[in-house]
Amino acid sequence: MKPDTALIHHAYQPPGGFVSPQIAVHKASSVFFPDVQAMRERNWLDKTGYTYGLHGTPTTFTLEERICQLEGAKHCVLLPSGLAALAQVNLALLKSGDEILIPDNAYGPLKSLAEAELAHWGISHQYYDPMQAQDLAQRIGPQTRMVWLEVPGSVTLEFPDLAALLRICREHKVLTALDNTWGAGIAFAPFACVADANHDVTGVDVCVHALTKYPSGGGDVLMGSVTTCRDDLARSLKLSHMRLGFGISANDAELVLRSLPSMGMRYSAQDASCRQVAQWCLQQSAFAQVLHPAVTSSPGHVHWRDLCAAGGASDAAIHSGGAAASLLSLRFQPTVSQAQVDRFCNSLKLFKLGFSWAGPISLIVPYALTSMRHYAPADLLQGGFVRLAIGLEAPEDLIDDLSQALKAIS
Ligand SMILES: *Cc1c(COP(=O)(O)O)cnc(C)c1O
Repeated sequence: MKPDTALIHHAYQPPGGFVSPQIAVHKASSVFFPDVQAMRERNWLDKTGYTYGLHGTPTTFTLEERICQLEGAKHCVLLPSGLAALAQVNLALLKSGDEILIPDNAYGPLKSLAEAELAHWGISHQYYDPMQAQDLAQRIGPQTRMVWLEVPGSVTLEFPDLAALLRICREHKVLTALDNTWGAGIAFAPFACVADANHDVTGVDVCVHALTKYPSGGGDVLMGSVTTCRDDLARSLKLSHMRLGFGISANDAELVLRSLPSMGMRYSAQDASCRQVAQWCLQQSAFAQVLHPAVTSSPGHVHWRDLCAAGGASDAAIHSGGAAASLLSLRFQPTVSQAQVDRFCNSLKLFKLGFSWAGPISLIVPYALTSMRHYAPADLLQGGFVRLAIGLEAPEDLIDDLSQALKAIS
């Protein structure tokens, strides 16, 4: 055997039984089989074997199991981004002629997907007002196959009555798919959040999680997951995932696996900082509204309390118990011009202008809500609007930064 060949077909096998905190990065397109029979019989669907890199490796199977653990799910598929995970649910579970209902304050790119690709493929959609359960109920028709849910809404952070929305979907026997990026498996249990008439506690049918956010935590990885407790839906999701060829990088899987152990601590630390910043913002006359589910004056605050802060009570401006993610939105007084809002954003030093959230660095994005919403209270659309994502900096420094930026526009 020539050295080139011997290098490739080397006989050495490292000993088994290596145990350390993190699993190895297993990279593969090809996976070897000992014989033809094994090649024919191996099953990746139930994770009892490996057949091809796209169908799973020890690294991706491990990450899938940990995401299941986090969300209380039984099955998981991984996607190259949170948006791809949203797309995957639609591709796997819908067909031409179906209709889906989407909350008006949903993650924007989901709405774009419905308006373009899904519409082209004969899948129609309606937007519903998630703050009016009856609005959802009256829109469900014979073609309605699935209802998307998001708690709280993207950008405006109104908190819907998830239990009421889920009960309506169940009555009408339509599938429920939740974008659980905000709750992240920490703020509430998506598969066990509503008691039915028999006191059985159940939840949504399918959950999507942008692992890009808390599970990664670094602002440097894009990934998404779809989880479910239902075997029938899992089969459709996995087969469709296989046919579409969505793969994720093993190195990215490793980064998420490495960040998961600190996720709970990061979530609570960023939550606490975010409430401290919100408290300060409530005292600033430049802001007409501070939107954050734990702020008692924020839309749907009581629903957040029911779902994420059971038992706690407080008459302060911000509820201190429960869990909430690190997003906070601010509506400026209508007397503050858009040019001043832009100057405010440009004046910030620690807060960077950038999309995404749940990383170490605090971010700000200005939004023009009027072009984003069909249903919104008139006052919400008045005045400049920004969303803050609180990172891991000391909250005092973030408050100083916001304070100097406010001075810069006064
Ligand atoms: C970021 C985000 C997504 C999309 O995740 P990407 O990985 O950026 O594609 C979906 N839903 C919500 C609520 C998000 O915040």
